[in-house]
Amino acid sequence: MSIQDIEEPELLRDFRIETPNATWNQLRANSNVNNTVKITAIKKTGGLCVYCEHRLIAKNDSQLEHFYPKNGNDNYEFGDGVPNRAIEWANLYPGCLGGTAQASHFTIKQDIDFRTGANKRNKNRLTCGQKKGETDPDGVFISPLKLNNQNPIYLFNEADGSISLNEEACTSQNIPVELGTSHLTRLNLDSQRLRDARLALASSLRSEFNKAFAIDADNVGELIDDWLALDEDGIYSYPFISLIFGKYT
Ligand SMILES: [Zn+2]
Repeated sequence: MSIQDIEEPELLRDFRIETPNATWNQLRANSNVNNTVKITAIKKTGGLCVYCEHRLIAKNDSQLEHFYPKNGNDNYEFGDGVPNRAIEWANLYPGCLGGTAQASHFTIKQDIDFRTGANKRNKNRLTCGQKKGETDPDGVFISPLKLNNQNPIYLFNEADGSISLNEEACTSQNIPVELGTSHLTRLNLDSQRLRDARLALASSLRSEFNKAFAIDADNVGELIDDWLALDEDGIYSYPFISLIFGKYT
């Protein structure tokens, strides 16, 4: 995942300047600001979860994720050079519901299989922000800004959809291997639920690729460019973009 440099919406900037001490709940209570932040923040990741890279579904499997936790709905303790991270643009990312989406919101079996069923009793399905909770991220999670599509830090195993740390990619980007491991395990990015979702994508890409290749081998480059392109709204057509970059480029 590479984070797109998206400018802070004016409405948020004005809100911050007018109410620098605002809590997250106060921001959310202002529907104009809240909606603008949601719509704009999703472009930071091209419509994917900032952690697992699953495609987000507005309202039903999507939320705004604070990389530095907002501590419930209160302000993060700020001052002394630490910004009010509850409402700081650079701290807000789009994220999935970590497997806790409601099955009744979906009609497609894959959505039910890949987005729901995680809860306190079924913790091994829980991922991303839901798993991360209020943990201070320093030394535990990699800042989204450090990650780069061109050099994914995970290796994808096509046999079972699992991912493992690419230590070489970590080292070349000054990401400590322990931090990469902690990021992967503490966000549960190799959960069976995500393995299944990645496997499904990989198999559909493979069949598209083979079809295009059979028609004209010269066209596959264009096909891959399409997979990796953002549309005019700044949204990817496919999830797990790092997987596609890692495997096809
Ligand atoms: Zn996620």
